[in-house]
This record gives sequence, structure tokens and C-alpha cells, in this order.
Amino acid sequence: MTIRTLLLLFIFVISSVACKSQSRTPAVTQHDHEQFLNQITYISAMSDTVNNDKVVRTEEEWRQRLSSEEYRVLRNHGTELPWANKYNSHYEVGVYLCKGCGQPLFHSETKYNSRSGWPSYWAPIREDVVTEKEDRSFFMVRTEILCSRCDSHLGHVFDDGPEPTGLRYCMNSAALHFVPEVDDSK
Ligand SMILES: [Zn+2]
Repeated sequence: MTIRTLLLLFIFVISSVACKSQSRTPAVTQHDHEQFLNQITYISAMSDTVNNDKVVRTEEEWRQRLSSEEYRVLRNHGTELPWANKYNSHYEVGVYLCKGCGQPLFHSETKYNSRSGWPSYWAPIREDVVTEKEDRSFFMVRTEILCSRCDSHLGHVFDDGPEPTGLRYCMNSAALHFVPEVDDSK
């Protein structure tokens, strides 16, 4: 074996070790993201305290975690069809989390039938879980509601809701993940 061959072999070994150490961690899939949301219990959601840690992800990371409809709603400010959505007529006791990051957003106690075709609530679970932004799309002036932790689009708020707030948080089911108070899976 010549010195040249030995040198080439040495370079090959070094570069393969270097490549291995740089190998990327596997991408988080939609299934992994669902598993993450399913691990959040009602008790842990209700004891979720103020958390100012922002969830920041690249567009690629969002696409890997979300279905195309969830991505369209949460990341592209989309609106799902009225009536034909998961939580419009859903009245179990529990808490609704952000589908993007798992932050608790609304409790079933504040959900009511607005007859709009979308799940509606008269208040978020805490004021700081949502942020508001003026939305001037479609020749209207509306107030957009975003998740304060991951900045995903959730829906809009209107001032035609019931007492005690008079507000209607009109949300997209695709932006939410429900956790029941009673875990009947056991
Ligand atoms: Zn979120």
C-alpha cells in the first residue's frame, strides 16, 4: 500500500466521521406533532402558566407538522368552510389548545352556539394567550386573532357576542385541538 493510498484512506475515514457528526436530526412528522398534542392532559393544560417562550419554526418545519388544511389556516391566514368543521357543534367539557404549539386557548365553559357555522367563544382562557391584529383583507376591517406563543392565525373576534364580554371569538376548528376533562381512553 502506497503512502498516497494510505493518505486517501485517511481522508475518507475522516470525512465519513465528519459527515456522521453533522447528520441532521430526523424531521418531526405530522404523526409526531399529533403525539405531542395528545400527551397534553386536561390537568396540565389547566395548570399551564404564563409562558413567554415564543415558538418559532421555519416554513418547512410547519409544513412537516401540519396537514395542508391546517397549514393553510394557521400559517396562511385561511378560513375553513362554515358548518362542515370539527368543533362547530362540539360541546364536550374540556379545553381547546392551539393546533400549532399546544398552548391552551379556550375552555368549553365559554363556548356557545353563535349559529355562524364556526366554533365560537366569548373569551379566551387567559387574556395573554391571544394577540389581536387589524385585518383589512376582503374589503373589510376585522380583528384577527393569533396565538401569542406561535403567532399562528386562529380566527377573528367580533363585538356581537353574548354577555359577560359581548365578544365573539370566531375560530377555525383546524386551528384547534380539543382535550376532554374526563379521559375516557382509560
Ligand atoms: Zn400556538
